[in-house]
Amino acid sequence: MDTQQEINQRLIDLALQLGATKASIVKVANITFSADFRQLCEMNSCGLYGQCWMCPPDIGEIDQLMAQAQSFDWALVYQTIRPLEDSFDIEGMLDAGDRHNALVNNIRQHSSELPFAKMLHLGSGGCSICRRCAKRDQQPCRFPDQAVSSLEAYGVAVYELANLSGMKYINGPNTVTYFGALLFSL
Ligand code: SF4
Repeated sequence: MDTQQEINQRLIDLALQLGATKASIVKVANITFSADFRQLCEMNSCGLYGQCWMCPPDIGEIDQLMAQAQSFDWALVYQTIRPLEDSFDIEGMLDAGDRHNALVNNIRQHSSELPFAKMLHLGSGGCSICRRCAKRDQQPCRFPDQAVSSLEAYGVAVYELANLSGMKYINGPNTVTYFGALLFSL
């Protein structure tokens, strides 16, 4: 069995090789959680509230989700930073979001080979496995083993998480930044 330091470095290398701009390992005990983030989801600025099985309210009560996340020991935190033509570059933002979701799914696939007792993948926004979530048609989740929820749905304070991980939440004009995390226990 590798040492904790070796495992941490393997995970950081994996995230960087797969396309993360930065990656870091933090203790879950040091992550800030808040149930207040559920109110932001309820405001539905992303349009996914009630439209995705991995988003609120269907993903579950935030207190239970925070407790679940806090039962892990470590988190691989990663971010992608992509350039935009300008602050109105919606196409660029969508493309950056698609690339980030592809990274989240790639890390999920590769980490299935890691010898962890348990893992939880959290991305940015709703689950992106299907083009159209089955929830929109009131059908069961098509790929429950692959579905990924978000940091926000689990009450993670992403701004504080960025600081904790030695990353910036915002990375300058004409850029867009997304975060993801793999929570794990050995
Ligand atoms: S796997 Fe598909 S059906 Fe299941 S939550 Fe994700 S997008 Fe929805």
